[in-house]
Amino acid sequence: MKKDTDKTKEQLAIELEKLRKQSKKREKELKAAIETLDANNQQLRATEQQLRAANQQLDASNKQTRASETRMRNLFNAMQDLVFEMDYNGTYLNIAPTSSQLLVKPAEEVTGKTLHDVFPKQQADPFLQFIQKCIDENKADKIIYPIKFDNKTIWFEGRANPIGNKRVLYIASDITERKHAKEKLEEREEKYRTIFESAKDAIFIMQEDKFIDCNEKTLEMFGCDREDIIGEPPYEFSPEKQPNGRDSREKAIEKINKAIEGEPQLFEWVHTTKDGDLFHTEVTLSRYMINDERFVLAIVRDTTKHKQAEEALRESEMKFRNLSESTITGIMLYQNDYWIYANPAAEEVTGYTFGELKQMKFWEFTAPEYVDLIKERGKARQKGKHAPSEYEFKIITKQGKEKWVFLTGNTTELKSGKAGLITAIDITERKQAEIELTLAKAKAEESERLKSAFLANMSHEIRTPMNGILGFTELLKEPQLTGDEKDEYIRIIEKNGTRMLNTINDIVDISKIEAGHVEVRNTELSVNKLLDEQYNFFVRETTEKGLELNYSPSLPDNESRIITDQYKLEGILTNLIKNAIKYTETGSITFGYSTKSLKGKDVFEFYVKDTGIGIPAERIDAIFNRFEQADIEDTKVYEGSGLGLAITKSYVEMLGGEIVVNSKEGSGSTFTFNIPYNKKSSKENSSKKNSEEESGVSLKNLSVIVAEDDETSRMFFETILENHVKRITYTITGKETIEKCRENPDTDIILMDIKMHDINGYDATREIRKINKDVTIIAQTAHALEGDKDKALEAGCDDYIAKPIEKEILFEKIRACLNKKSI
Ligand code: ADP
Repeated sequence: MKKDTDKTKEQLAIELEKLRKQSKKREKELKAAIETLDANNQQLRATEQQLRAANQQLDASNKQTRASETRMRNLFNAMQDLVFEMDYNGTYLNIAPTSSQLLVKPAEEVTGKTLHDVFPKQQADPFLQFIQKCIDENKADKIIYPIKFDNKTIWFEGRANPIGNKRVLYIASDITERKHAKEKLEEREEKYRTIFESAKDAIFIMQEDKFIDCNEKTLEMFGCDREDIIGEPPYEFSPEKQPNGRDSREKAIEKINKAIEGEPQLFEWVHTTKDGDLFHTEVTLSRYMINDERFVLAIVRDTTKHKQAEEALRESEMKFRNLSESTITGIMLYQNDYWIYANPAAEEVTGYTFGELKQMKFWEFTAPEYVDLIKERGKARQKGKHAPSEYEFKIITKQGKEKWVFLTGNTTELKSGKAGLITAIDITERKQAEIELTLAKAKAEESERLKSAFLANMSHEIRTPMNGILGFTELLKEPQLTGDEKDEYIRIIEKNGTRMLNTINDIVDISKIEAGHVEVRNTELSVNKLLDEQYNFFVRETTEKGLELNYSPSLPDNESRIITDQYKLEGILTNLIKNAIKYTETGSITFGYSTKSLKGKDVFEFYVKDTGIGIPAERIDAIFNRFEQADIEDTKVYEGSGLGLAITKSYVEMLGGEIVVNSKEGSGSTFTFNIPYNKKSSKENSSKKNSEEESGVSLKNLSVIVAEDDETSRMFFETILENHVKRITYTITGKETIEKCRENPDTDIILMDIKMHDINGYDATREIRKINKDVTIIAQTAHALEGDKDKALEAGCDDYIAKPIEKEILFEKIRACLNKKSI
């Protein structure tokens, strides 16, 4: 039972549990239903709220619509544009109030009117067509047109919108400013395009490593079409390798990339044309940006011509340098008073290096006497005045040497400005030659003048005594002459003969001097004795003229011995004393000597002093000249050849001395000359004496043949030889001379005339030499020409003597020849 009870209980519990569970479930369901109810209520409330809100929104939106309507109206009213409605016939309907300012006439006047009422036909027609087209096609369209307004043209851009009812709403705005701005822009663009196209350089525009545009010049420069360039990479016209061997296309790309990065590039490049011809260029790359896009502008300048010009310049520079360095002409440039260039020849001329010249003003090496001239000319040229551009002047070289230069000056244009271009040639030698030539010319002219004067004088000097001689010889023939008259005539003839002989002697002497045939024959002599002889010779003449002649020796006889040419010393003194007498009318003539030391040497100084007419100062230098007299006119008064002093001076100089004159016109003259005091040692003196004596003795034993066809000359020989030799044989022809020589083998001397009728003296000598080698033959000739002596010696003569023969010289020669043979 229990079990049943328990079982029932259990069942009850299960039932209860079931019930409980059911009630819980119902409770849950109830709760859920209540919650749903709540939720529905809430939803209901929310919907209510939404409804209220929607109502509120509707209200607000109504308000908004009203506001926007107002705004639209305000906007319409406030619009600046021209706004109107127009029908198919072009009638103005609604016109926005503000449009009137863009209307030709006020809105109220236009409303209801047609386009043709307002505008002329040609304006109205196209506009009406436009409106009608919009309406016909029911499509909005745009129109731009100008209208003349208050003398201005206003550009409109309008849009017509069909709005139904065969109407359009037309809105237009004033685009005049925009239009002008656009025009300006277009103009500017045109300008830039023109520049771009007409540029002398090729201009490319690149973007992203490609050419996007280029100008005409580019096509011309690269010889291609636009299509060959546009879209191509930038290295398209670069050779693989640059001629310099270093750069390649990569280098060009590198530069473009740098430009793209904003770093402008400037470089030289060799480009190639489409046909492959290379040319030099200068390239500029720069970047510019448009709306963040990067472009590269490349300007390429063809520098081929420039390069060629540069090359030519370099070449001409090189040529100039070569020329300038190899020429012997000094080339110099100066600027702002300083030398800026000097070639080696200029260095040579001036003695300064270019480095030294650079520091010098341009006149610094000019000889002082030319500095002012050079400066003046420089200044004148700077002021644009004409100044000689070629001149000769002296410079002083660095070594202090004077040089003559021939200079040319020009202006040249250098990069640094104007410069003086100077060329200088050393003309020192030419200048010296010129100076010498001028002197020689003057001398030649002078000697020409003197020769004429001389000839005139000689003619006078020969004719005058000749007239005397011939005239009085003729008179002598008169049979009824008294003895005194005859004596007087003979005296006159003698005097004239002497005068003529003097003249002829002078001519012969000077000719010999000029021909260089005068030799100095030194012997020892006593000056005291020589001056005594002079005194004795002249004292009669001076006394006759009423003049005083004074002489007193300065040294004792033994000290007055010197070695000199006696003949010449005698000649000098004779000449001076003769002149003194000639040119002195009253007073005295004094002569003498003294010894002194001159320039460290002992000399004998002789003087001849007179109280005569003196010599004008301006003629003093001339009197020693050949053919010259103190006053040529004087020859008429004071006879003379004008050669005496020239001969005297030559003789003095041959003896190793000098002659001077001290004279004052009207107060007399003093001629002073010196000769070296050559003393002989006493030993030499005595030996000389002996030989002289010996020679003297030996002359006495001589057998002489005189070959001479001129009678006068024969008489002369007779006179001078008569008392000095043993035997004289005279022959007239060459043959006869040879014969006489053969007949007389003991003959010591033959005085052989050269000019004989049959065989001349030279040939006769040759013949004689065949039979007699020892006989002394002395040739004697009147020719006295250079070369005669040589011819004589060559023919076999021992010596030669010129006519007129002087006794002493002849004796001396004879002695010399014999001495030579006896050695
Ligand atoms: P000349 O034959 O004319 O005398 P010289 O050569 O001997 O020629 O002299 C040249 C000139 O010098 C003379 O003509 C004369 O005018 C001048 N003369 C020379 N000696 C004297 C002197 N003692 N007094 C003045 N004049 C002189």
